[in-house]
Amino acid sequence: MQTDFLVIGSGIAGLTFALKAAAHGKVLVVTKSELSDTNTSWAQGGVAAAVGEGDSWELHEEDTLISGAGLCNEVAVRYLVQNAKPCLEWLIDLGARFDYVPGSELPQLQLGREGGHSRNRIVHHADQSGWEIERALTEAVRKQENIRILEYAFCEALCERNGRCTGALLHPKDSDPVTVSSRATMLATGSCCQIYRFTTNPPIATGDGIGLASAIGAKIENMEFIQFHPTTLYHREARNFLITEAVRGEGGILRTIHGRRFMFDYDSRGELAPRDIVARAMHAEILKEGVPFLHLDMTHLPEEKIKSHFPKILEKLTSIGIDPMRDPIPVVPAAHYQCGGVSTDLSGRTSVPSLYAAGEVACTGVHGANRLASNSLLEALVFGASAADHAKDHASEHSAGEPRRLPLSTVRKVEVDGFIRRLKRIMMDKVGIVRNNLGLKHAAESIEELASEAQQDDRFHVSGAEAGNMIEAARIVVRHAIERKVNVGLHYNSDLGPPSGEGANRQGAST
Ligand SMILES: Cc1cc2nc3c(=O)[nH]c(=O)nc-3n(C[C@H](O)[C@H](O)[C@H](O)COP(=O)(O)OP(=O)(O)OC[C@H]3O[C@@H](n4cnc5c(N)ncnc54)[C@H](O)[C@@H]3O)c2cc1C
Repeated sequence: MQTDFLVIGSGIAGLTFALKAAAHGKVLVVTKSELSDTNTSWAQGGVAAAVGEGDSWELHEEDTLISGAGLCNEVAVRYLVQNAKPCLEWLIDLGARFDYVPGSELPQLQLGREGGHSRNRIVHHADQSGWEIERALTEAVRKQENIRILEYAFCEALCERNGRCTGALLHPKDSDPVTVSSRATMLATGSCCQIYRFTTNPPIATGDGIGLASAIGAKIENMEFIQFHPTTLYHREARNFLITEAVRGEGGILRTIHGRRFMFDYDSRGELAPRDIVARAMHAEILKEGVPFLHLDMTHLPEEKIKSHFPKILEKLTSIGIDPMRDPIPVVPAAHYQCGGVSTDLSGRTSVPSLYAAGEVACTGVHGANRLASNSLLEALVFGASAADHAKDHASEHSAGEPRRLPLSTVRKVEVDGFIRRLKRIMMDKVGIVRNNLGLKHAAESIEELASEAQQDDRFHVSGAEAGNMIEAARIVVRHAIERKVNVGLHYNSDLGPPSGEGANRQGAST
């Protein structure tokens, strides 16, 4: 098979690239699940853009840099914030519907406020912004004659010849693997947060892009900066359900399961401290109490407020037998966002010629050590577009390359359940919110043990490649965490000194 542009992943980054590239050649979009099964569809808060009165890209830039705790790529941040408005307008022209201020004479976007932003600048569609963006993008790509979509096709390896990416090896669900030759390849495979036991991410987020990029030798950085969201529902029937920070904003209280309020023991702002501080305090209380979860208490809030402000949460909790008007909600902090990834420049170019990356799999440097709320959809949009702009003029000629696999990805059968459960526990316990030197060392050793088991054990089934990618992503997170010798932003090792880049700890938060 041949195509001009091969896009791996159908979230906001991949589809933005596809739509822009389609004006310049044939595009093939592949995804391992159905088209809209993406992290993008799960995004709630919205897209950050300095489009409100009294706001400016300079202020957005300043907030982003403070959150990044001194580790942002300043050139990339400026590019991001200066391109927010045109990229948002493109999305609106495409058909994405955002909320407008009711009754205003001229259409005026309703702008939300989130942690770390000095102005209201979150463009949203109720609390389902990602779903609406994905809807608009998928409808648009389906209409494009130049775009072919291949669902349920797993990208097993990127292909390489003379140091250049020449396409990929795909494994469609009910047929044999096929090599696709492309003139430019966009890696838009999203996050690796499924390597953790608790995560807000959907099951597709297995870090495949990190495994694929590592196997072909692309540079990867900042993977130690994994952002944890403090309040994710802890319930057998409803995993990964995020309970928005707004609940605490409206007066929700965090308690131990014995009813003790604890946040003021850690920070004078109590439940409203930045998320990394809240997550760390929760981690300490979980260890201290020896319990698997804590409680978020809304029972003292007026019933009317709960019903009007949190209808989706109320619906979800009621469906699993929790009445938030009477019962405390069991919650745990969960891995939410991968700030690092495959290194790219302003045009989405990786260190491997003809291979581009954008979205959560990429590390443009805009997040530094801690992502500012709602900058991630924006990053995927801005750099997905800039990559297409570059690729249209610099796509190489077709050539036949060889698939570059991780040694592990040759495992054909993976006993995913037990194996992956062990990996997720190691990551959560030793490489989670608070790390220490011994724990990181043990994690590195345990992951190597798992890796050698995976190579030897032919009982393994399902996707050996996916499991291999998870191991590789976990390895890299641990390695980068060991290499980071100072506490900064989201990386906290209790054997190191107090955090540097205090800005991140004061402001850092995200949706
Ligand atoms: C609950 C939640 C709430 C969030 N809220 C916000 C918010 O309000 N604002 C914000 O800015 N960000 C938010 N985020 C983060 C944001 O949603 C993501 O960073 C962003 O959507 C990532 O987009 P992406 O295109 O990079 O990847 P994704 O949207 O995750 O798409 C990845 C694609 O790659 C495909 N894929 C992966 N591996 C392979 C493979 N091997 N072969 C083929 N296909 C593959 C997947 O199937 C999928 O199609 C939130 C995230 C979560 C989980």
